[in-house]
Amino acid sequence: MSQPVLQLQNVERRYQQGVTALSVLRGGSFGLFAGQSVALAAPSGAGKSTLLHIAGLLERPDGGEVYVDGKPTTGMNDDARTALRRHSIGFVYQFHHLLPEFSALENVMLPQMIAGLSRHEARRRSMDLLAYLGVAARAKHRPAELSGGEQQRVAIARAVANSPVLLLADEPTGNLDPKTAEHVFEALERLVKATGLAALVATHNEGLACRMTRRVTLKDGWLIEPT
Ligand code: ADP
Repeated sequence: MSQPVLQLQNVERRYQQGVTALSVLRGGSFGLFAGQSVALAAPSGAGKSTLLHIAGLLERPDGGEVYVDGKPTTGMNDDARTALRRHSIGFVYQFHHLLPEFSALENVMLPQMIAGLSRHEARRRSMDLLAYLGVAARAKHRPAELSGGEQQRVAIARAVANSPVLLLADEPTGNLDPKTAEHVFEALERLVKATGLAALVATHNEGLACRMTRRVTLKDGWLIEPT
Protein backbone atom coordinates (compact mmCIF):
# COMPACT_ATOMS: atom_id res chain seq x y z
CA MET A 1 0.00 0.00 0.00
CA SER A 2 1.23 3.54 -0.72
CA GLN A 3 2.22 5.84 2.12
CA PRO A 4 -0.53 7.69 3.99
CA VAL A 5 -1.22 11.34 3.22
CA LEU A 6 -1.50 11.91 6.97
CA GLN A 7 -0.04 9.75 9.66
CA LEU A 8 -0.43 10.46 13.36
CA GLN A 9 1.88 8.51 15.61
CA ASN A 10 1.20 8.54 19.35
CA VAL A 11 0.30 12.21 19.36
CA GLU A 12 0.12 13.73 22.84
CA ARG A 13 -1.18 17.10 23.92
CA ARG A 14 -1.49 18.54 27.41
CA TYR A 15 -2.89 21.86 28.54
CA GLN A 16 -1.69 23.37 31.78
CA GLN A 17 -4.58 24.42 33.98
CA GLY A 18 -3.12 26.05 37.07
CA VAL A 19 -1.04 23.42 38.78
CA THR A 20 -2.63 20.48 37.00
CA ALA A 21 -2.07 19.35 33.41
CA LEU A 22 -5.10 18.32 31.36
CA SER A 23 -4.11 15.47 29.03
CA VAL A 24 -6.35 15.99 26.01
CA LEU A 25 -4.48 13.62 23.69
CA ARG A 26 -2.58 10.66 25.12
CA GLY A 27 -1.63 8.57 22.09
CA GLY A 28 -2.84 6.16 19.46
CA SER A 29 -1.86 6.02 15.81
CA PHE A 30 -3.69 6.36 12.56
CA GLY A 31 -2.97 6.62 8.83
CA LEU A 32 -5.18 8.38 6.28
CA PHE A 33 -4.77 7.47 2.60
CA ALA A 34 -5.55 9.28 -0.65
CA GLY A 35 -9.18 8.89 -1.73
CA GLN A 36 -10.36 8.22 1.82
CA SER A 37 -12.76 10.30 3.85
CA VAL A 38 -12.54 9.46 7.52
CA ALA A 39 -14.86 10.67 10.25
CA LEU A 40 -13.32 11.74 13.53
CA ALA A 41 -16.39 11.12 15.63
CA ALA A 42 -16.42 11.92 19.32
CA PRO A 43 -18.49 13.99 21.75
CA SER A 44 -17.88 17.66 22.31
CA GLY A 45 -14.79 18.28 24.43
CA ALA A 46 -13.13 14.97 23.48
CA GLY A 47 -10.24 16.71 21.70
CA LYS A 48 -11.30 16.70 18.02
CA SER A 49 -10.35 20.33 17.34
CA THR A 50 -7.05 19.87 19.17
CA LEU A 51 -6.27 16.85 17.00
CA LEU A 52 -7.18 18.70 13.79
CA HIS A 53 -5.01 21.68 14.80
CA ILE A 54 -2.08 19.33 15.32
CA ALA A 55 -2.76 17.41 12.08
CA GLY A 56 -3.03 20.75 10.26
CA LEU A 57 0.34 21.92 11.62
CA LEU A 58 -1.31 24.83 13.44
CA GLU A 59 -0.13 23.48 16.80
CA ARG A 60 2.73 21.22 17.81
CA PRO A 61 2.09 18.07 19.82
CA ASP A 62 3.84 17.58 23.18
CA GLY A 63 4.83 14.09 22.08
CA GLY A 64 4.58 11.82 19.05
CA GLU A 65 4.95 12.60 15.36
CA VAL A 66 2.77 13.93 12.55
CA TYR A 67 3.71 12.87 9.02
CA VAL A 68 2.23 14.80 6.09
CA ASP A 69 2.86 13.15 2.73
CA GLY A 70 5.50 11.02 4.43
CA LYS A 71 7.41 13.94 5.91
CA PRO A 72 7.89 14.13 9.70
CA THR A 73 6.80 17.61 10.75
CA THR A 74 7.50 18.12 14.45
CA GLY A 75 11.19 18.90 13.89
CA MET A 76 10.48 21.41 11.10
CA ASN A 77 10.85 25.12 11.81
CA ASP A 78 7.78 27.38 11.64
CA ASP A 79 8.50 28.55 8.08
CA ALA A 80 8.76 24.99 6.78
CA ARG A 81 5.57 23.99 8.58
CA THR A 82 3.71 27.01 7.16
CA ALA A 83 4.93 26.26 3.64
CA LEU A 84 3.87 22.62 3.92
CA ARG A 85 0.49 23.64 5.34
CA ARG A 86 -0.14 26.15 2.54
CA HIS A 87 0.86 23.69 -0.13
CA SER A 88 -0.72 20.49 1.17
CA ILE A 89 -3.62 21.19 3.53
CA GLY A 90 -7.07 22.73 3.14
CA PHE A 91 -9.35 23.63 6.05
CA VAL A 92 -13.12 23.84 6.48
CA TYR A 93 -14.65 25.08 9.72
CA GLN A 94 -18.10 25.06 11.28
CA PHE A 95 -18.59 28.66 10.19
CA HIS A 96 -17.82 29.24 6.54
CA HIS A 97 -15.49 32.26 6.98
CA LEU A 98 -16.11 33.33 3.38
CA LEU A 99 -15.24 36.95 2.60
CA PRO A 100 -18.60 38.76 2.72
CA GLU A 101 -17.85 41.43 0.10
CA PHE A 102 -16.86 38.93 -2.60
CA SER A 103 -19.01 36.55 -4.62
CA ALA A 104 -18.88 32.77 -4.17
CA LEU A 105 -16.82 32.55 -7.35
CA GLU A 106 -14.36 35.23 -6.20
CA ASN A 107 -13.99 33.53 -2.82
CA VAL A 108 -12.80 30.38 -4.60
CA MET A 109 -10.68 32.29 -7.14
CA LEU A 110 -8.77 34.42 -4.61
CA PRO A 111 -6.53 31.75 -3.05
CA GLN A 112 -5.59 30.55 -6.52
CA MET A 113 -4.69 34.04 -7.74
CA ILE A 114 -2.65 34.62 -4.57
CA ALA A 115 -0.84 31.36 -5.42
CA GLY A 116 0.01 32.81 -8.85
CA LEU A 117 -2.68 31.48 -11.20
CA SER A 118 -4.02 33.82 -13.88
CA ARG A 119 -7.51 35.26 -13.37
CA HIS A 120 -8.71 33.30 -16.39
CA GLU A 121 -7.39 29.97 -15.14
CA ALA A 122 -8.56 30.60 -11.57
CA ARG A 123 -12.05 31.39 -12.85
CA ARG A 124 -12.18 28.24 -14.95
CA ARG A 125 -11.03 25.99 -12.10
CA SER A 126 -13.38 27.69 -9.62
CA MET A 127 -16.41 27.24 -11.86
CA ASP A 128 -15.52 23.56 -12.26
CA LEU A 129 -15.30 23.14 -8.48
CA LEU A 130 -18.53 25.02 -7.80
CA ALA A 131 -20.28 22.91 -10.45
CA TYR A 132 -18.88 19.78 -8.89
CA LEU A 133 -20.24 20.77 -5.50
CA GLY A 134 -23.62 21.66 -7.00
CA VAL A 135 -23.50 25.43 -6.48
CA ALA A 136 -22.48 26.75 -9.93
CA ALA A 137 -25.81 28.58 -10.25
CA ARG A 138 -24.94 30.58 -7.13
CA ALA A 139 -21.45 31.62 -8.31
CA LYS A 140 -22.26 35.32 -8.65
CA HIS A 141 -23.93 35.60 -5.25
CA ARG A 142 -22.33 36.90 -2.10
CA PRO A 143 -22.18 34.60 0.96
CA ALA A 144 -25.06 36.40 2.72
CA GLU A 145 -27.32 35.52 -0.23
CA LEU A 146 -26.59 31.79 0.07
CA SER A 147 -28.18 29.15 2.31
CA GLY A 148 -26.07 27.54 5.06
CA GLY A 149 -25.54 24.41 2.96
CA GLU A 150 -24.52 26.45 -0.07
CA GLN A 151 -22.10 28.50 2.01
CA GLN A 152 -20.41 25.33 3.25
CA ARG A 153 -20.15 23.92 -0.29
CA VAL A 154 -18.43 27.12 -1.38
CA ALA A 155 -16.16 26.92 1.68
CA ILE A 156 -15.23 23.36 0.64
CA ALA A 157 -14.53 24.52 -2.93
CA ARG A 158 -12.28 27.27 -1.57
CA ALA A 159 -10.48 24.84 0.75
CA VAL A 160 -9.55 22.57 -2.16
CA ALA A 161 -8.98 25.36 -4.71
CA ASN A 162 -5.20 24.98 -4.61
CA SER A 163 -5.38 21.18 -4.81
CA PRO A 164 -4.22 20.22 -1.32
CA VAL A 165 -3.59 16.52 -0.65
CA LEU A 166 -5.31 16.73 2.72
CA LEU A 167 -8.61 18.31 3.74
CA LEU A 168 -9.33 18.86 7.44
CA ALA A 169 -12.88 19.75 8.36
CA ASP A 170 -14.00 20.69 11.88
CA GLU A 171 -17.75 20.12 12.32
CA PRO A 172 -18.43 21.39 8.77
CA THR A 173 -22.13 20.63 9.07
CA GLY A 174 -22.51 21.46 12.76
CA ASN A 175 -24.66 24.46 11.90
CA LEU A 176 -26.91 22.78 9.36
CA ASP A 177 -30.18 20.90 9.56
CA PRO A 178 -29.84 17.08 9.23
CA LYS A 179 -30.95 16.83 5.58
CA THR A 180 -28.68 19.66 4.42
CA ALA A 181 -25.82 18.21 6.49
CA GLU A 182 -26.27 14.88 4.71
CA HIS A 183 -26.13 16.53 1.28
CA VAL A 184 -22.98 18.46 2.16
CA PHE A 185 -21.36 15.23 3.39
CA GLU A 186 -22.32 13.49 0.15
CA ALA A 187 -20.79 16.30 -1.91
CA LEU A 188 -17.63 16.14 0.17
CA GLU A 189 -17.31 12.37 -0.23
CA ARG A 190 -17.86 12.59 -3.99
CA LEU A 191 -15.14 15.21 -4.22
CA VAL A 192 -12.71 13.09 -2.19
CA LYS A 193 -13.31 10.02 -4.36
CA ALA A 194 -13.03 11.95 -7.62
CA THR A 195 -9.89 13.93 -6.76
CA GLY A 196 -7.96 11.42 -4.67
CA LEU A 197 -7.88 13.90 -1.82
CA ALA A 198 -7.76 12.59 1.75
CA ALA A 199 -10.24 14.06 4.22
CA LEU A 200 -10.49 13.94 8.00
CA VAL A 201 -13.85 15.26 9.14
CA ALA A 202 -14.56 15.93 12.80
CA THR A 203 -18.17 15.52 13.81
CA HIS A 204 -20.19 14.69 16.89
CA ASN A 205 -22.94 13.37 14.59
CA GLU A 206 -22.67 9.56 14.75
CA GLY A 207 -25.24 9.09 11.99
CA LEU A 208 -23.14 11.02 9.48
CA ALA A 209 -19.90 9.47 10.75
CA CYS A 210 -21.16 5.93 10.13
CA ARG A 211 -21.71 6.68 6.46
CA MET A 212 -18.10 7.54 5.76
CA THR A 213 -15.38 5.16 4.51
CA ARG A 214 -13.79 4.91 7.94
CA ARG A 215 -14.46 6.17 11.40
CA VAL A 216 -11.99 6.91 14.17
CA THR A 217 -12.74 8.21 17.63
CA LEU A 218 -11.12 9.71 20.72
CA LYS A 219 -11.62 7.81 23.95
CA ASP A 220 -10.07 9.30 27.08
CA GLY A 221 -7.50 10.98 24.86
CA TRP A 222 -6.66 7.84 22.87
CA LEU A 223 -7.15 7.87 19.12
CA ILE A 224 -8.71 4.54 18.20
CA GLU A 225 -10.44 2.94 15.25
CA PRO A 226 -13.50 0.99 16.44
CA THR A 227 -13.90 -2.40 14.74
P1 ADP B 1 -13.71 19.07 20.74
O1 ADP B 1 -13.24 19.68 19.44
O2 ADP B 1 -13.83 17.56 20.66
O3 ADP B 1 -14.96 19.69 21.26
P2 ADP B 1 -11.40 20.41 21.90
O4 ADP B 1 -10.20 19.88 21.20
O5 ADP B 1 -11.90 21.74 21.51
O6 ADP B 1 -12.56 19.31 21.85
O7 ADP B 1 -11.09 20.47 23.47
C1 ADP B 1 -10.67 19.32 24.22
C2 ADP B 1 -10.39 19.73 25.66
O8 ADP B 1 -9.21 20.54 25.71
C3 ADP B 1 -11.50 20.53 26.32
O9 ADP B 1 -11.61 20.10 27.67
C4 ADP B 1 -10.99 21.95 26.24
O10 ADP B 1 -11.50 22.73 27.30
C5 ADP B 1 -9.49 21.78 26.35
N1 ADP B 1 -8.73 22.83 25.64
C6 ADP B 1 -8.75 23.06 24.31
N2 ADP B 1 -7.92 24.08 23.98
C7 ADP B 1 -7.37 24.51 25.14
C8 ADP B 1 -6.43 25.54 25.49
N3 ADP B 1 -5.89 26.32 24.56
N4 ADP B 1 -6.11 25.68 26.79
C9 ADP B 1 -6.64 24.88 27.75
N5 ADP B 1 -7.52 23.89 27.49
C10 ADP B 1 -7.89 23.70 26.22
